[in-house]
Amino acid sequence: KPAEIPNLPPGVADHLAGEGIEELYPPQAEAVEAGLTEGQSLVASVPTASGKTLIAELAMLSAIQRGGTALYIVPLRALASEKKTEFERWEDEGFSVGVSTGNYEASGEWLASRDIIVATSEKVDSLIRNNAPWIDDLSCVVADEVHLVDDKNRGPTLEVTLAKLRRINPDLQTVALSATVGNANEIADWLDAELVQSDWRPIDLRMGVHYGNAINFDDGSQREVPVAGSQRQTEALVDDTLAEGGSTLVFVNSRRNAESAADRQAGVVESHLTGEERADLRELAGEIRQVSDTDASDDLADCVEGGAAFHHAGLAAEHRSLVEDAFRDRLLKVICATPTLAAGVNTPSRRVIVRDWRRYDGEFGGMQPLDTLEIHQMCGRAGRPGLDPYGEAVLLAKDTETMDELFERYVWADPDPVQSKLAAEPALRTHLLATISSGFANSREALLEFLDATLYATQTGDEGRLATVTDTVLAYLERNEFIEREDDTIRATNIGHTVSRLYLDPMSAAEIIDGLRYAEEHAGEAAADATDASQRDDDLDRPAAEDGFVAASDLQSNGAGDSDADAVDDDGTDDSDSGDDTDQESAQPTPLGLYHLVSRTPDMYELYLKSGDRETYTELCYEHESEFLGRVPSEYEDVAFEDWLAALKTAKLLDDWASEVDEDRITERYGVGPGDIRGKVETAEWLLGAAEQLAGELGLSSRVGIREAKKRIEYGVREELLDLAGVRNVGRKRARRLYEAGVESRADLREADKSVVLGALRGREKTAETILENVGRQEPSMDDVSAADTPTAAVG
Ligand code: ADP
Repeated sequence: KPAEIPNLPPGVADHLAGEGIEELYPPQAEAVEAGLTEGQSLVASVPTASGKTLIAELAMLSAIQRGGTALYIVPLRALASEKKTEFERWEDEGFSVGVSTGNYEASGEWLASRDIIVATSEKVDSLIRNNAPWIDDLSCVVADEVHLVDDKNRGPTLEVTLAKLRRINPDLQTVALSATVGNANEIADWLDAELVQSDWRPIDLRMGVHYGNAINFDDGSQREVPVAGSQRQTEALVDDTLAEGGSTLVFVNSRRNAESAADRQAGVVESHLTGEERADLRELAGEIRQVSDTDASDDLADCVEGGAAFHHAGLAAEHRSLVEDAFRDRLLKVICATPTLAAGVNTPSRRVIVRDWRRYDGEFGGMQPLDTLEIHQMCGRAGRPGLDPYGEAVLLAKDTETMDELFERYVWADPDPVQSKLAAEPALRTHLLATISSGFANSREALLEFLDATLYATQTGDEGRLATVTDTVLAYLERNEFIEREDDTIRATNIGHTVSRLYLDPMSAAEIIDGLRYAEEHAGEAAADATDASQRDDDLDRPAAEDGFVAASDLQSNGAGDSDADAVDDDGTDDSDSGDDTDQESAQPTPLGLYHLVSRTPDMYELYLKSGDRETYTELCYEHESEFLGRVPSEYEDVAFEDWLAALKTAKLLDDWASEVDEDRITERYGVGPGDIRGKVETAEWLLGAAEQLAGELGLSSRVGIREAKKRIEYGVREELLDLAGVRNVGRKRARRLYEAGVESRADLREADKSVVLGALRGREKTAETILENVGRQEPSMDDVSAADTPTAAVG
C-alpha cells in the first residue's frame, strides 16, 4: 500500500489514494522492496502500461525528500511537455517541475530552483557541456525508455550522458525504465542497479493474426471477423470493435498512410455514431480548425467529424493533445498512427491493429520488418484498465505464409536484446570531443577509461574495437583543429570548445567552417560567376579547375586551409567589426547559399528527393551555382550530387519560409507537415547561430550575412519586414499586412494612425492594443502627462 512505502514525503500517499491508486502494481511493489525509495539504483523492465511512471515518481519524490534534485530524461522532445504536465500534479504537494527544451547552448540556470527537471538526453548532454550548476545537485536520474540505447542515432547520447552523470556524482540514484527486452540484466550490470523484470500487465493482452474471416489468437482461440467484399481487413476489424462499443488504434508505417487510413475509417465509424456524438465531434472539429488556418487543420477536422483521427509527429502539439484527449474520452473511435509516439503517449485502446509491420528503410533499401520490441510496444497499448475485459492486438495477413511468419516473428517471439551502438564513428566523434572539452578526460588513456564506464564496455569484452574507433576519431578531430595533442595530453582548441558548447556534430562544424572559408576565398568571384554562369556547363572540368580548394562536400577532408590556421587562435570576440564588413558587403553569402550550407550538415535531417525532384533541383542548382558555399559535386559523383540536391531541396524549403510563402503551399510543395516546417526552421536557426559564432571566432566577414539569414528564418519574412516582425505578437502575416498599409517599421508603428493599424489587423482591437503596447507606443493620455511633466522638471 502507498502508505507503507518508506521515505515518501508527507502527502504523497494520500495524493495517490485520491487518484484511486490504493495498491501498488506488482512490479511497483517489487521495486519498492528492492529499495527504490531508499536511493537504490534500479532497472525496471516491464511491459507498456504497467505503471512505470509511478516507479519513476516514487524514486524522484523520495530522492527530493532526502535532499537534491531529480532529473527525468525523455527520449523525444515531443514527450517532454507531456511528462511535465503529468508531474505537475505534484505541485499541490509542494514540488516544482521544470522542462528544459529549446536552445542547446543555454545553460538553463533557472532550472536550479526546480525539484523535478524534465529534458531529453541531448539537452542534458548539452547542459553538462555548458556546466549547468544544478547538475551537481542531482540526487536521482530517471532514464525513460532506456532500451533506446539500442538506437544508432540517439542511443549513444543517452549512454554517454548517463555515464557522465554517474561520474559527476558517484552516489547518484539511477532509475532506468525499459520495455521488456531480452537482456535487461546487462543494463542493470552497467548501472550497478537492482533488476525488476516482469511480464505482469494490469489487463490481459491477447495477440493474434487476422487472416481470412477470423482472428487467430495466441491461445489457440478464434474470433470470427468476416471481411465483406468491398471491405479491407482493417475496416472489418474496426467495424467489429465498434459493434462491441470499443475503440481501435491502428498503426501504419507512414504519415501519409495514417492520414489516408483515418480518412477511410471515418467512413466506417460515421454510421455507428449517435446524434449527440456527432454534435460533440463537430465541436471538436471546430476547435481543431481554430488551432491554425491551414490545410492540415482542415484535413484533421474533416476526419474528426467522422469519429476518426490521424496521429503522427508532424501534427501540431495542440492538435495532438486534442486528439489524444478525445480518444481517451471515447469520443473519437479510431486513431490511425505512426509508431513514433506509440511508446510515450498514454492512449490505451480496446483493440490495437498493427496494419503495417514493414517500413521503408533508406539505409538497407526496400521494406524492412519492424523490431519485435517496436511491435510489442504498439500491441501493449491494447486494453483500457477498468474499461475493457481484456486488450486485443491484431496483426494482418493475406496468406498463411505471412500468418506463420507473423506468429514466429512477433507473437511467439522473445523480446530482442538491446545492443549499445556507441562504438560507431559518428557517435564517438561528437562524444569524444565533448568529453575532452568539458574536462572529463585529457589523454587517450583517460578517454578509454571513461568509455569503460559505458554499456558498450559492459557488453563486449573486446576493448580493441573502442580503441580503434577512438584513434580514428581523435585523428579526425585533430585534422580539423578541434583538438591539439602534445605528448600524452589532449586538449580542445578554442574552436573545439565552441563546437562542443554549441552542441554541433564536429562534422557539421567542419562543413560549416569549410563553407564559410570557401565563401571568403571566392568572395570576389561570386558576382563575376553570376554573369558567366551560362557558359560554365562542362561539369567534368570543374573539379580540376578548382583544384586546391577544399571541397566542402568531402566530409573527411582536412577542414582548414593553411593560411587560416592562425585564425583559430584569434580572439573571436564580437567588438571591432572594423571597416571590413562594409567592404565585403557586396560579397556576403546569400540566404539560399547559407541555408544550403547548414542543410548539408549531418545535424539537419534532410528531405528525400522524390521522383521528378532530381530534374527540378538540378536545374535550380545550376541557376544558383554561384551562391553555394562550396564546390558543386559533378553529376558523375552520383551520391555526392544526390546529397547536394537533397540539401538544396531542404534549403529551398527554408528559403520559401523566409520569403513568406504560405505554410500550406510549403507543406504541399515539399510533402511535409507543419510540425516538420517548424522542426527544420528551428534546426536552421540553431545551426545559423552556430555558424555566426564560428565565423566570429575565425574572424570571417560573413557574419553579417549569416545574421540576416538567421533572422529571416526566425521570423519567416523577407528582409524589409525584419524590423516589424520582431515585435511581439506581430508575426509574418501581420507584419506583411502592416507593411502594405504603409506601416513599414517599428518607428512607423509607433506613429501610425490607429485606424490604419486596426485595418491592417483586420479590426482586431485587442491585438492592435497589445501590439502597440509591445512596440512601446505611448497612449495619448500618457503623452499628455509626460509633456506636462517635462517643463516642470526643467524648472524644478
Ligand atoms: P507505462 O509508463 O508503464 O507505459 P503508465 O505509467 O503510463 O505506464 O501507467 C499506465 C496507467 O496505469 C496510468 O494511467 C496510471 O495512472 C495507472 N496506474 C499506474 N500504477 C497504478 C496503480 N498502482 N494502481 C492503479 N493504476 C495505476
